Amino acid sequence: MKKIIKFFMKNRILVAILLLLALSSWSTVALASANAVIVQSDSVNVRVGPGLAYANMGQVKKGDKLAILAEKNKWYQVRLSGDKIGWVASWLIDNTDVSSATNKVGIVKVPNTTVFKSADANSNVLGTIEQSQKVTIMYQEQDWTQILYNGTAGWVKSNFIQGTQETSGSTNNSNTSSDDSIKKVTITQPNTKLRIEPSQDGRVIKTVKVGKQFDYLSKTGKWYKVRDSDGSVGYVASWVVTISGTKSAVKSAATNISEATIVIDPGHGGDDSGAESKKSTYEKNFTLAYAKAIKQQLEQTGARVVMTRSGDDSKSLGDRARLSSKIQADAFISLHFDSTPQANAASGVTTYYYNKNKDGELATDLNSQLKSLSIGNRGTAQKDLYVLHYNSQPSVLIELGYINSKSDYKYIDSDSYKQEVAKDITNGLKEYFK
Ligand SMILES: [Zn+2]
Repeated sequence: MKKIIKFFMKNRILVAILLLLALSSWSTVALASANAVIVQSDSVNVRVGPGLAYANMGQVKKGDKLAILAEKNKWYQVRLSGDKIGWVASWLIDNTDVSSATNKVGIVKVPNTTVFKSADANSNVLGTIEQSQKVTIMYQEQDWTQILYNGTAGWVKSNFIQGTQETSGSTNNSNTSSDDSIKKVTITQPNTKLRIEPSQDGRVIKTVKVGKQFDYLSKTGKWYKVRDSDGSVGYVASWVVTISGTKSAVKSAATNISEATIVIDPGHGGDDSGAESKKSTYEKNFTLAYAKAIKQQLEQTGARVVMTRSGDDSKSLGDRARLSSKIQADAFISLHFDSTPQANAASGVTTYYYNKNKDGELATDLNSQLKSLSIGNRGTAQKDLYVLHYNSQPSVLIELGYINSKSDYKYIDSDSYKQEVAKDITNGLKEYFK
């Protein structure tokens, strides 16, 4: 940092000239289109929102060039031919020349600026924008500027817009925004404070318990503005909550596993060893090894796989569930091995779900594949488990056999069983996303 300051001090005149140049070129030179990317899969669905839960609005083909407008949850908002705006999964397109979205932000200079459908004052009027409002600039020609307007592309007269040095599309902007897909905010940490301002220093309105639900109003930086059932309004920190939408059955709209984001959660880790089979044979080591095998097979389908831990780390149950919510995973699978107080007292594989609407189908599809495993199948069962209860996404927890059963352990400790599990979970997910 010091070095940079030194540079600026030494080169004050140079910096001033550069700044002037940047400012003057802004208004006269047409902005080349924003970051462009090339589609690398044979065909990629374009959706109306950033996730598989959104409806499909068309397809793009291998080699198509798309202009990136914004990025959210690893999805790119793109401009298609005919000025349609849609979203594509970022991992299906070649993104080597994209760091993140860097669209310029402009400020409307003129009261009630008209937004046109095309760069033509005789074209349809989409609406008007108030003076001083910020807009995302997608493309600029001499006389006309294309902006993002109500989720679609619109055109305004270039001289009605003042350019800024700000860029849009970054996922961690501190502006207030509202996400229509979020309806409820559920508290996951004890003694969570509802505050009057979106800050740790904001006065506390009340303290609430785990499981408490609020209506979602908007988001400011890393804080959610929420309303309680008694009408009180305040802010909660986003890192102590999970969010959920209206969708009671959250079945993903994915027609193909290749678009899906899947969280694999190797149970336990770090100080928490989980169940022990023999001396120093811990559940946490098996869950991690199985997670890696599953990840490897799943990735061959094109799916995006995210693990809650990739080493021998401690991870709280809240962190595990929140990761799934945060990246809006299409499925969350927690891996465990059972044990009984007395060795050799039980055997078999069990698939747990919590909310039948949200998780039931995922549990059924996975379990029907796991039936073919060498270890016997105990079926699906409803259970109130933390990583499922506080998970906004479809989620299951699978106990892949009893670690302190001699007969089960023989398989658990074998590579062939591990590969069978990876294959069955991959096939179960393929079914689920059909
Ligand atoms: Zn366990």
